[in-house]
Amino acid sequence: MTTLIYCFRDDLRLHDNPALTAACQQADHLLPVYVSPLPQTSRWGFARMSTRRSAFRHSALQGLASALQQQHSGLLLASGSLASVLPALASQIGASAIYCEDIATPEEQDELTALRASGLAVESFWQSTLLAPDSLPWADAQLPDQFTRFRQQVEAAAIQPAAPLPPPSLPPLPPAARQLIRPLAAMDYPPADPRSSFPFPQAAFVGSEAAALAHLAQYLQRGLPHSYKATRNGLHGIDYSSKFSTWLACGSLSARLVLQQLHAFEAEHGHSDSSYWLWFELLWRDYFKLLQRQHGRRLYHPGGLPQRASPPHNPAVFQRWMAGQTGHALIDAGMRELASTGYLGNRMRQIVASYLIHELQCDWRAGAAWFEACLLDYDCSQNQGNWLYLAGLGTDPRGGRRFNPDKQAAEYDADGDYRQLWSQP
Ligand SMILES: Cc1cc2nc3c(=O)[nH]c(=O)nc-3n(C[C@H](O)[C@H](O)[C@H](O)COP(=O)(O)OP(=O)(O)OC[C@H]3O[C@@H](n4cnc5c(N)ncnc54)[C@H](O)[C@@H]3O)c2cc1C
Repeated sequence: MTTLIYCFRDDLRLHDNPALTAACQQADHLLPVYVSPLPQTSRWGFARMSTRRSAFRHSALQGLASALQQQHSGLLLASGSLASVLPALASQIGASAIYCEDIATPEEQDELTALRASGLAVESFWQSTLLAPDSLPWADAQLPDQFTRFRQQVEAAAIQPAAPLPPPSLPPLPPAARQLIRPLAAMDYPPADPRSSFPFPQAAFVGSEAAALAHLAQYLQRGLPHSYKATRNGLHGIDYSSKFSTWLACGSLSARLVLQQLHAFEAEHGHSDSSYWLWFELLWRDYFKLLQRQHGRRLYHPGGLPQRASPPHNPAVFQRWMAGQTGHALIDAGMRELASTGYLGNRMRQIVASYLIHELQCDWRAGAAWFEACLLDYDCSQNQGNWLYLAGLGTDPRGGRRFNPDKQAAEYDADGDYRQLWSQP
């Protein structure tokens, strides 16, 4: 009899989950577990996870727990570090190993190192990218240092992801674990701001796998891939971009499933430059995850990959940026939207980040930390990669990206509607 623990991390789904599928195939009894980290304060003095982001994850866990219950399994919830929770649990229920997904970011790597140091067998599986690293024509260390070269080589070699896996059948819970499983404690979610472009906690925008799959289906049914490229730089509204990111970040949606469904859409409704652009953007996501595999902790140096001197910083100016009180109407509108909703479109993310780094001369790491706290779609590799790219401290040899906020306002908010919408917190 083999008893295993499956430890969910940023893969809160049953569909296309190779690590979970492997655990289900190996185990006679399987205990699904999720360990929430204890609340932490960032070095910049604010909580690392806003109430809204923690509520979004709670909603994803609620969906996962009920999907597991439907298969007569369940989800055991604990809090702390993996190493403080799982060894005792494994010995209590007689589990011989932990199965989980592999995540390349340093804190997540450290968690598995500490777990292995406790003597537990840990099987981890890389599964968050579209493209499997071993399907690429280079080793991790030889990843092209520009996104364009990466994309061109992937496309020239016609590399495509493997097909997504169906949800597995869950083995029964270990008998000793049945009485340990308790329902997820209720949480009061902050209400959706009616101005939000991602109005969580409305039912269609909660973090569950069911909501993710329904969102993907309606996005394709409504033909939105064919208008995506023209609208993706929008500032306000639900449909200007796909809004897949929140579900991709907590893993209730698999990128491979998105691509498979997009290909099915294209087979039925035709390809367009616009539908291609969703693949293009999903490749950016892969690129930043692969960059994390390549460079690890080096991406966290204050001076970035070139290890330049620490950037300047001004705490009072940074406070005003976070609060949406810089005096620049477009920047302040974006920062209010971020704080009030936990979402900001890609264009506004670029504009406010560039403003903090290049105009306000503040430390990019402080900005990245504020995004970490607020963003419902926070994903460490994506956040770090994008901030480094804008600061000119990543791999791209062309230097940073500086956005002139007045020009951006004239181009993307010519009538001032967005600034008016967010003129108040
Ligand atoms: C400073 C900064 C910080 C960011 N932090 C995060 C983060 O923490 N988590 C996160 O998921 N994205 C982050 N992004 C990338 C991007 O802004 C979001 O993925 C996108 O806005 C999410 O909305 P969407 O799903 O509607 O995107 P769409 O435009 O519909 O794009 C489809 C998908 O492509 C991927 N994608 C799009 N743009 C990018 C990009 N610039 N980099 C990487 N992948 C991309 C995402 O997975 C997205 O869901 C950041 C961008 C910037 C400039």
